[in-house]
Amino acid sequence: MSGDPWAAVLERLDDAAKLTGLDPDIHRLLRTPRRVLEVAVPVRMDDGRVEVFTGWRVHHDTTRGPAKGGIRFHSDVDAREVAALAAGMTFKTAIVGLPFGGAKGGVRCDPTRLSLGELERLTRRYTLEISPLLGPDKDVPAPDVNTDGRVMAWLMDTLSMLRGELLPGSVTGKPLSIGGTRGHAGATSTGVLLATRAAFSALELPFTGSRAVIQGFGKVGGPLAFLLSSAGMRVVAVSDVGGAVYNPGGLDPSALADHAAHAGTVAGFDGGDEIDADDIWAIECELVVPAALAGAIDEQVAERLETRVIVEAANGPTTPAADPVLERREVVVVPDILANAGGVTASYFEWAQSRQGYAWDDELVAKRLRSMMDDAFQAVWGRAETLDVSLRRAAFALAVERLAEAISARGLFP
Ligand code: NAD
Repeated sequence: MSGDPWAAVLERLDDAAKLTGLDPDIHRLLRTPRRVLEVAVPVRMDDGRVEVFTGWRVHHDTTRGPAKGGIRFHSDVDAREVAALAAGMTFKTAIVGLPFGGAKGGVRCDPTRLSLGELERLTRRYTLEISPLLGPDKDVPAPDVNTDGRVMAWLMDTLSMLRGELLPGSVTGKPLSIGGTRGHAGATSTGVLLATRAAFSALELPFTGSRAVIQGFGKVGGPLAFLLSSAGMRVVAVSDVGGAVYNPGGLDPSALADHAAHAGTVAGFDGGDEIDADDIWAIECELVVPAALAGAIDEQVAERLETRVIVEAANGPTTPAADPVLERREVVVVPDILANAGGVTASYFEWAQSRQGYAWDDELVAKRLRSMMDDAFQAVWGRAETLDVSLRRAAFALAVERLAEAISARGLFP
């Protein structure tokens, strides 16, 4: 991640505090994570050695509900990044109106170098180490970078074994067979599509026929390319860690997905021209979706973009220094804490179903996702108009106002 992610969060929080005239006591509370747990995660490796990994679980705020947020396994994870991502979850859940606080967790490791057994032992030991924080009413983890339903199943099993009772509401993103929800896998991409549609409609831009550029072709970018093109957009360029492809007439996302499944990258796809991954930013288009890395759009990239709209599928893809450049260049940015909230919204549905012991059908999940994403977009859009600021500043302002209301209502203990 480029820059200091925690400093970037504070910068945006401070701006929202000024914009909303936030009570300085509440401002100080939100500038400090409620709790940061750092743990050693010793794992017996397949060759008999014991490797000691470092892990974290951070609760940023839990005023509005149990802490909620993903767990990532990555070699770059550190405490400040985890804290920044936890704060992002606090703001995201407030914007969509979910009864959750914000959390994040991570283990510094390279999961591509772990065997399946090592990955399972690492997950179970990390779960044990952070278990004092976990539980359906305390903290509910979900998948994030390099973690998936299988990891969530081990996490739920470990916690259930430790507590001596089945705890399906203690984790989301579980496989369907153990209480996962329908629609979880595609919920983030669907939410990004809904946010894009709402933005194009509010800006009175035609959706059909518009050109989209996507950075990242993973769990979010892959399905999103398909959804945007099924909805009538032309996805003209896609990049991933291995390269980029460009076709001004529109790429075929299904054929591209087949190619990427075999080749491990979009590079080399014969349905378009190979271009330098960095050159996707200069392509003339109506929509850019960063769906890969934090810090991808910095000041230099912001100067090069030839788009009307950015919808942030990734977390933190735009650096604070790039924000004023985009504003000056009149590029409308739908911020991450709104645009990619479809995933945590589906997690909320899963948590509710696990607690009810009653599974919803696809139609109900899709209908409720649509209405919650649309309401959140309209609330942020409305706030941006009244405050006369960007959608990002308005989103933070809205989140901070909702948090301030909840914090004031509960008061300070003791
Ligand atoms: P993923 O690991 O499945 O995919 C990441 C993609 O980014 C891959 O295609 C990878 O090749 C590409 N990439 C990596 N480095 C790149 C580079 N230098 N240039 C271009 N592409 C590069 O991850 P994901 O789950 O799709 O998540 C993508 C982003 O969306 C992350 O920021 C994540 O935090 C955010 N997000 C994901 C979800 C979700 O439900 N998965 C929810 C909210 C936010």
